[in-house]
Amino acid sequence: MQSLAANLWIVGAIAVGLVMVYALVALVDVVGRVYGAKAQRERELALLEQRVAAARKQRDAQQQQSLSWTGWRKFEVRRKFVETGDNQLCSFYLYPHDGKPIPTFAPGQFLTFQLNIPEQSRPVVRCYSLSDAPRADHYRVTIKRVPPPRNNPDAPPGVASNFFHDQINEGDLVDCKAPGGQFHIDMASNTPVVLIGGGVGLTPVLSMLNAIDEAGTDREVWFFYGVRHKLEHAMRTHLREIAQRRPNVHLHVCYSNPEREDKQGKDYEHACRVSVDLFRKVLPSSNYEYYMCGPPPMMEQLVKDLEEWGVPANKIHLEKFGPASGRQGKKEIKPTSGGPQIVFKKSGVTVGWSAEANNVWEFADANGVRIDCGCLEGNCGTCATAILKGEVEYNKKPEFEVEAGSCLTCCCKPKGDLELDA
Ligand SMILES: Cc1cc2nc3c(=O)[nH]c(=O)nc-3n(C[C@H](O)[C@H](O)[C@H](O)COP(=O)(O)OP(=O)(O)OC[C@H]3O[C@@H](n4cnc5c(N)ncnc54)[C@H](O)[C@@H]3O)c2cc1C
Repeated sequence: MQSLAANLWIVGAIAVGLVMVYALVALVDVVGRVYGAKAQRERELALLEQRVAAARKQRDAQQQQSLSWTGWRKFEVRRKFVETGDNQLCSFYLYPHDGKPIPTFAPGQFLTFQLNIPEQSRPVVRCYSLSDAPRADHYRVTIKRVPPPRNNPDAPPGVASNFFHDQINEGDLVDCKAPGGQFHIDMASNTPVVLIGGGVGLTPVLSMLNAIDEAGTDREVWFFYGVRHKLEHAMRTHLREIAQRRPNVHLHVCYSNPEREDKQGKDYEHACRVSVDLFRKVLPSSNYEYYMCGPPPMMEQLVKDLEEWGVPANKIHLEKFGPASGRQGKKEIKPTSGGPQIVFKKSGVTVGWSAEANNVWEFADANGVRIDCGCLEGNCGTCATAILKGEVEYNKKPEFEVEAGSCLTCCCKPKGDLELDA
């Protein structure tokens, strides 16, 4: 009797065990299906987002092409707004004077301006990055007033930047070229990015941040902004609001020289310069696309240290604001005989190339031939000039991809006789 009960108990236990195993298997199956379906849905959603972004990119490219213009177009300054406590950074909101639609742009790109400044013998050409997300009816640029160099306080202050600050007011018209430039973010991608702005180098990366914010995606953004102290800190409230609103945006403001009244945790996060040491502390890994713009020493150091940290060079993107025109008309270069003949066709100038010249732009400038320039570093493309005859070689590979049949005069030399459309 006892062994029957024991057997029954064992059979019962096995039956219960089997039921539990079946139930567990069924549960695992259901959970697996639910998770599988969820993962599948997430994959589909990601694919859909990518397709929408790619379609938007294509539409933007077509729109940009169809609405773009060649040469100069007049824009009216409808708003002029001082951005910093030290009064040195000012934004200009530009609306097309003809009232027609304007092309969009890729965040990071810039406008090229031509200014007729009374005391200047010829129009002054300068590039300024677009500092906001693309808008339907206007552009915004943000310009720093450039003083004389610290080691040469008697030199004249920056021509164009001071003209903008002191002479360009609401209601005035300025001439500019359509947006351009190779330094820009891909809005169709969701790749995590580190955006770095030093001083006025904030402008192109701010445009990128604003565009990502407005796209409303969950793209991971680490935003590092370096200034000396609060008086130089632009867009403080705006940046804080984005970081508070968007969990995917991580804001790190660095003051290299904070004033006593500047509050860490409120005004800024770190009392140091933007550096790779800081990235190593706050970033989860080095695996990002890096976009940076700032003073040359800052960028040189960052690039070197990022590469040492293992970041591949093709993930580091830079914009150099360049030396501007402190260099225009500054160098005397005598033409030579016997060397390659350089013909500047439009100007009617033919001169013998001199090895003293670092590049064709410098040689042209020294010989009274005017070629518009922006960065003089091969980044902005402003000095691109059509080659009518001959060939050039580049001192180093320019960042700007110049179209076939043209050359970037600021960073190339002639390979032999050369005829340019300048
Ligand atoms: C792609 C690109 C984007 C840019 N975006 C921005 C932007 O968003 N915001 C911004 O503020 N800037 C930007 N810049 C920089 C801008 O284009 C100008 O270079 C800057 O405003 C200085 O121009 P300037 O005419 O005021 O100075 P310049 O007249 O060109 O003078 C430059 C410096 O040279 C000094 N100098 C002049 N003459 C002499 C002399 N005889 N001897 C010694 N020193 C002299 C001046 O005092 C000044 O310090 C950008 C540049 C590029 C290439």
